[in-house]
Amino acid sequence: MERETLPVDVLIVGAGPAGLACAYHLKQLIKRANESGNGPGEVEIMVIEKARELGAHNLSGAVMDPRALNELMPDWREREFPVERTVEDEGIYYLTETGKFKTPWTPPPLRNHGFPIVSINRLVRWLGEQCEAEEILIATETPGQQLTYAGSRVTGVQTGDKGLNKSGEQKNSFEPGALIEARVTVLTEGTRGSLTKEATDKLNLHGEMPQTYVLGVKEVWELPKSLSTRGTVYHTLGYPLGDIFGGSWVYSMRDNFVSIGLVTDLAYKNPYTDPHYNFQKFKQHPWIKEMLRGGKLHGYGAKTIPEGGWFSMPKLYADGLLLAGDSAAFLNSQRLKGIHLAIKSGMLAAEAILYSLKKDDTSAQSLRIYKDLVDASWIREELWQVRNFHQAFESGFVGGMLQVGAQFVTGGRGFTSKILTGETSSHMRQVKSLGLKNRDEVLASRAKEFDRELTFDKLSDVYKSKTLHEEDQPVHLHVADTEICRTKCRDEFGNPCEFFCPANVYEMVADEERGGVKLQINASNCVHCKTCDIMDPYRIITWVPPEGGGGPEYTDL
Ligand code: SF4
Repeated sequence: MERETLPVDVLIVGAGPAGLACAYHLKQLIKRANESGNGPGEVEIMVIEKARELGAHNLSGAVMDPRALNELMPDWREREFPVERTVEDEGIYYLTETGKFKTPWTPPPLRNHGFPIVSINRLVRWLGEQCEAEEILIATETPGQQLTYAGSRVTGVQTGDKGLNKSGEQKNSFEPGALIEARVTVLTEGTRGSLTKEATDKLNLHGEMPQTYVLGVKEVWELPKSLSTRGTVYHTLGYPLGDIFGGSWVYSMRDNFVSIGLVTDLAYKNPYTDPHYNFQKFKQHPWIKEMLRGGKLHGYGAKTIPEGGWFSMPKLYADGLLLAGDSAAFLNSQRLKGIHLAIKSGMLAAEAILYSLKKDDTSAQSLRIYKDLVDASWIREELWQVRNFHQAFESGFVGGMLQVGAQFVTGGRGFTSKILTGETSSHMRQVKSLGLKNRDEVLASRAKEFDRELTFDKLSDVYKSKTLHEEDQPVHLHVADTEICRTKCRDEFGNPCEFFCPANVYEMVADEERGGVKLQINASNCVHCKTCDIMDPYRIITWVPPEGGGGPEYTDL
């Protein structure tokens, strides 16, 4: 097939905080270097993004540590940066099923006083405007379908085709994806990026341990009156997660909106664990129920978060390639924060690119300076302190808290210098070994609990995520062997995809022809959280980008 070829110098895949910070910073660095007569000359920078509009696929808490933004754009407050509120009131609570206990003090990593509460959707749109003002080319509705290589060197990206039907045949509207050739490709695709996964396997960029993930499920509510006139931030532990690592947040946003969400660790044992259901249980806690009384659901979203930390970070560079942001696990799981690390990692990637372009050498040997810059920066200092944090909870909640206490006084070491763990999905146990009830009974009894006022089923929530995909296109969730779903997985794990997917994409339906059940994939519901790519116990599900522009529309989230 004839494909248009677009040569650029630097291609950034993913217009989130890391990608846009990289583009913006690089443009500034090049300008300054060229003005001083020491620059690489004209450099073409292009950012591609799979969403229909900037920010539409960005989801987060989020209370932002402004440290990196201060470095990127010291005058950000004067540039109409979209602050929802500034944190003035905060608290940490331990929840039982009906009660709550406030911790007498807020541990330093969770102190947010003075930080801006933001909608990451608005933040990304704003960052995009700053880039566009610098004439940086940003192409939306343009997913990176696959990387292109010359031997082991990454030479760019082939973008996704548009206008294929369900069977993969060309419709009248067909437009082939382009080949974007770049001297450096920067992957800032966000969590569990499909190109990052491909490059990590092909170029052996694996970290010391596999990445470990949690799933955040979030709703934005509009209340009859504001939660508080001050920026209020609550974090909770305990109910309804029991021994599973995780917790919740409640953040007051502009006007009467409130952001509320629950993070469930995906390294769980019980295959019936359902992060969306956990979140609905959380809202039934008397304190939260009272908080939301009279309000209405405004938005919904879900996103996996890479929480493995320092030891799970992949190798950050290869020939012609750099990784930044969530794609490379720049996230502090103890502080529940990643935006500042994403921005800073994007900036350091920009500095490594400038260095390499000036030398006219974008090989791994030259780009490795990026790793040196990360190691010398406050990123390393911050992430080294929490290098064993998430893994500590593998021994359960109480054991985890004890270890975290020890880590706190030993600069992150704790009882063991390095805690390494396995693939997230490897923790899941078989139904029989846990003596669980019949899966159908569990699903049916949970469905009865949703009242559609306070608690919602997955389909009602997906509606609020404004998720849309072109219906007549190839399914973007590739299941290598659906026979496993109807037989082995049904028997051994009770089809956990029906539980872990927060968007009701996977459904086991009656198989009229053969009897029993078969897998039905409702791909158009997919909110791009990537949980299935991580959690399928047989590793037969692969998430690939759908046609450009498809997916959630996370306005205000
Ligand atoms: Fe998330 Fe996969 Fe469900 Fe899409 S299909 S919403 S990526 S779990």
